[in-house]
Amino acid sequence: MKTNIISPYDGKVIGEVKEFTNDEVEEAINNAQYEFNDGEWSRYSSDERAQILFSIANSIEKNSLELATIESNNNGKVIKETIGEMKSIVDTFRYYGGMSNKISGETLPLDNKKFIYTQRKPLGVIAMITPWNSPLLMMAWKIAPALAAGNTVVLKPSEYTPLSSIKLQQLCLESGLPNGVLNIVTGQGNTVGNYLVSSDKIAKVSFTGSIIVGKKIASICGNNLKPISMELGGKAPNIIFEDCNLDNAVRAAVKAAFGGQGHSCSAGSRIFVQKSIENEFIEKFIKLTKKIKIGDPLNMETEYGPISNTMQLEKVVKLVEVGLKEGATLAYGGKRIEDPAYRNGLFFYPTIFTNVDSNMTIAQEEIFGPVVSILAFDDESQLIKDANSVKYGLSGAIWTKDINRALRLNEKLEMGTLWINCYKQISCKAPYGGMKSSGYGRENGKMAVDEFCQTKTVVIDYSDQVSIWYEGEKEE
Ligand code: NAD
Repeated sequence: MKTNIISPYDGKVIGEVKEFTNDEVEEAINNAQYEFNDGEWSRYSSDERAQILFSIANSIEKNSLELATIESNNNGKVIKETIGEMKSIVDTFRYYGGMSNKISGETLPLDNKKFIYTQRKPLGVIAMITPWNSPLLMMAWKIAPALAAGNTVVLKPSEYTPLSSIKLQQLCLESGLPNGVLNIVTGQGNTVGNYLVSSDKIAKVSFTGSIIVGKKIASICGNNLKPISMELGGKAPNIIFEDCNLDNAVRAAVKAAFGGQGHSCSAGSRIFVQKSIENEFIEKFIKLTKKIKIGDPLNMETEYGPISNTMQLEKVVKLVEVGLKEGATLAYGGKRIEDPAYRNGLFFYPTIFTNVDSNMTIAQEEIFGPVVSILAFDDESQLIKDANSVKYGLSGAIWTKDINRALRLNEKLEMGTLWINCYKQISCKAPYGGMKSSGYGRENGKMAVDEFCQTKTVVIDYSDQVSIWYEGEKEE
């Protein structure tokens, strides 16, 4: 069976992909298992793996416009942003290419002619499940460290946006990655995804997506005693103090809220602004939001495209209604864009709510769309309580010139990443992941390689005597 892939910009069919059967998913898992245990990949040295990752990086660099075009066409993110993502994907493959031959254990001394060494071993076949908002970036964050460590992969991209992952798989093969190391299976989550994560042959699941699906997968993995790492949602507080550089903060806040149409786990969807500058901030924020260039995601000038898919548009519409019902003030947007030029696209205005209370649904739930809540604060301890009041803890920001205040708040704010006087500065060199229900495990940085390794301890005795017990104890 095949499924049509639809452009959110004009509703046209831009491709079709196969709905994998259980047998076909099984075959992909078997291919990955064979490559891990006995295939060409199993014999590659870490230097050879590094060379392959560098070649993949070069190929992505060469084909970045094509990859960015596929991505923007499929998920509606503007091409200026997807080109930026391709640069960061190239950096990611180079970073982990460089790390491949530096994965090592330790040597530990023991008494009397004994010592221990530890090895970092790959886990085996990794099942990877990715979402629709940044399919290629999420794929790169997972496959580059997993391959650097010597694992093999079966990846299921979102049913909405599989096209770029299929293209990247092709580039990987052309760059010398042996057949069967990186397998892509396409189709629905509750069939193809479920079969994949339930397989006994999978050594670990690496998942990025929603909390609801994360819980389902975690319970399957729990029953099978399989490790899992989870990158789930976010509801980032973007905290703006009166002493900050306000123009910088406003510009960044608009991008943080509406970049990628707000389809971002790190979207600055809750703006906490100090009461003394509330009116000035709101006025500047609305003025700048009105200037956002809306249009065709493939046009280099466009800053804001369509909502990525119908399901997500329905969710955004519903949560805007809830915001109004619960008494927030709609300061801008809140409806579909009626311009006839966008008639066939899923366009929705960037939407600003003011007078938002921290208990309201729109301030608690991840909307994953272009809807921002502005909350005023006076008191620092109440601010911390409100900022931490959500179940999420992925990321957030503080804008202030008072470094003491920034560092004091950092100690209290519950999130995996805090930006001070900047926003969404995510680097492949630094760990990224959540606290609380935003997930566990980390992507990026050295920690991502650890996620795909296991430790073996080897003890050597060269004393030529019998020593069979714990360290320190000797046979009489
Ligand atoms: P989703 O959870 O609906 O789907 C994610 C993936 O899981 C898809 O590929 C889907 O097909 C698959 N899936 C669904 N049901 C499954 C099942 N029963 N078994 C196995 N796989 C299944 O999420 P989404 O709507 O695609 O993405 C949006 C979510 O992703 C948001 O919550 C967002 O915050 C999160 N996200 C988090 C990060 C991060 O780094 N923390 C990054 C991007 C997106």
